[in-house]
Amino acid sequence: MIIDSHAHVDEVLAWGWMDPPEALILLMDEAGVDRAVIMTYRDAAGPDDPSTLYIQEAVNRYPERLIGYIRINPNAAGAIEALDQAICDFKMKGLKLHPVSYVGFPYGEATLRLMRRAAEYHAPVLFHTGDEALALPEEVAEAARMCPQARVIMAHMGGYYHCEAVLQAAKELPNILVDTSAIPYPWMIRKAVETIGAQRVLFASDGPGCLPTLEVEKVRLAELRPEDEALVFSGNIQRLLEEVRHDL
Ligand SMILES: [Zn+2]
Repeated sequence: MIIDSHAHVDEVLAWGWMDPPEALILLMDEAGVDRAVIMTYRDAAGPDDPSTLYIQEAVNRYPERLIGYIRINPNAAGAIEALDQAICDFKMKGLKLHPVSYVGFPYGEATLRLMRRAAEYHAPVLFHTGDEALALPEEVAEAARMCPQARVIMAHMGGYYHCEAVLQAAKELPNILVDTSAIPYPWMIRKAVETIGAQRVLFASDGPGCLPTLEVEKVRLAELRPEDEALVFSGNIQRLLEEVRHDL
């Protein structure tokens, strides 16, 4: 069983990013991925945002394959209401935050408020983390430190240049997990498992932008123990998603 814990489905004509659910599912089939957690490229600004409805529609069309996260601009006036609607009404499973996209510090007050709300639902908070200002490991880790009740997933394990800093932060803060998407080093996945434990490492592709077949192979090349590989490929994300509650 392989569950991709971070993939994209959206159509944004102005950016030239046209990835309907069928495009991702084709790549999942090629890679042997059973299910994928999906999110948009756009940030929702409130309830009934077209981006959220797009995810909801995709999940309704492929309920056996797709699991929805809402992606929100925390600084938008309707941010909390958008999260409530997504989790309570649409049964979405988590929150995606991309501080570079909405231009805000990960540890800004509006973001912390939204993270606290997500934590009440036990919903994971997936942060884009990488080599750019506003998404640096130290900045995302500060948000995790200020909101210890939230389960913070640092995507891309910090990107090309910041893997070590992400592992350092995760060593200090037990509420941090990492995903394997888009980093170029299979051995870094093994190091993550050895440093913070297999329970906190999640397989992700960030597809269709990154190729799921390649991302799966990268985890295999890390040559983990079979029981650890099973946790990374599906056990961990299953456990996280099962804990999400859909009312308060
Ligand atoms: Zn992504």
